[in-house]
Amino acid sequence: MIEATHLATFLCPACGGHSFETILDIPPVPVNCSVLWPDRNSARAARRAGIQLICCQDCALIFNATFDSKLVEYDGRYDNSLDFSPSFREYCEALTGRLIQSYDLRKKRIAEIGSGKGHFLRLLCEAGANEGIGFDPSHAPETGRVGEGSVTLVQDLFRGDFGGQHPELVCFRHVLEHFDDPADFIRGLREALRGANDSVIYCEVPNAACVFGGASIWDLAYPHVCYFAAPALQRLFASNGFRTLAIGTSCADQYLYIEAALGTDPLTEPRIEKEGTLALAGNFRRRFMKTVAWWGDFLNEALLEGRRLALWGCGARGVTFLNVVPGGGRIEYVCDINPHKQGAFVPGTGQRILSPEALKEAAVDGVVIPNPVYKSEIERSLRNLGISAEVITGLGSQRFVQHGSNSYAHSSGA
Ligand SMILES: [Zn+2]
Repeated sequence: MIEATHLATFLCPACGGHSFETILDIPPVPVNCSVLWPDRNSARAARRAGIQLICCQDCALIFNATFDSKLVEYDGRYDNSLDFSPSFREYCEALTGRLIQSYDLRKKRIAEIGSGKGHFLRLLCEAGANEGIGFDPSHAPETGRVGEGSVTLVQDLFRGDFGGQHPELVCFRHVLEHFDDPADFIRGLREALRGANDSVIYCEVPNAACVFGGASIWDLAYPHVCYFAAPALQRLFASNGFRTLAIGTSCADQYLYIEAALGTDPLTEPRIEKEGTLALAGNFRRRFMKTVAWWGDFLNEALLEGRRLALWGCGARGVTFLNVVPGGGRIEYVCDINPHKQGAFVPGTGQRILSPEALKEAAVDGVVIPNPVYKSEIERSLRNLGISAEVITGLGSQRFVQHGSNSYAHSSGA
């Protein structure tokens, strides 16, 4: 835990503000929650660190004040791919279609920062015959055709050079929240795009409003330094030389996106009030403790009754759930549809990750899902496998904030 005196010298990594409220200290969790471990002992010995969430009172950014970038690795053992989920693939296809349509991305250049295996970039390049370049240190270099387009993956961080001409679209999805200095990254992008006033940026992050006030409560992971709700994200771009073209939420409110381009346009710049996010942050400690206690009681009773429980989905949320909820380590079965994860071991609690098919043999009667957005997909899979287990989201234990609309603002200049 950092001292209050230390907090007094802190600056917000997004807006430079220096007024904070402490939200919650989360006990030590595995720092590399997406790293796959080859055996139970190394998984249990995975390095852990606590998370101290604080909230900037100026821009409403919530961030981990004790984050240490030296602890986090993004190497070949890192796998956070969701591409095996049909609903996630549908989401990506709809998004690429919308971006191609909105910004006429046909036979254009597209760059993706944090491109992983290149799934999203390939969709964009195939559907629009575009030429794509992706940057990701965790994936091997690769070049190839996709339909009438092409994709080159560079095994490196983005270092300010798009490899020639300016791209018409720069996207980075689920990247910004990993930086301990997101403002520096956005300024670097502004420099890299200098003169390219028509280039569009598409940035997508986990929606902090859904983490702190909605169904994403388990999406608290050590590699996420920053949690952006709309006010903080919009302000970060606006104060570093970008005008907002569109800002909104997607995927059942779990994701927050901004589309932006170089320039300022104070007349159409949306001003999203920060008060709602500050209130969610202020109430979060109570809500989180209540949720953890509910799950702890549930697991305790279920295990006493001899129920055979499984957890479905071993991404960051699953790892946080298993390591934070008392009794999480006693859930016997953990499964994931990503075949690269199957056979590996859960960091911290050490369960072996199984395929969904293995749950049938295990005769599980309850399936815990830390990400309720996949509830119907998981129920469908269970039915197809002939498993009649109860699906438990724990949502009854949480209080939600309803969001009426999923679009905060769209400017007419896009
Ligand atoms: Zn701030």
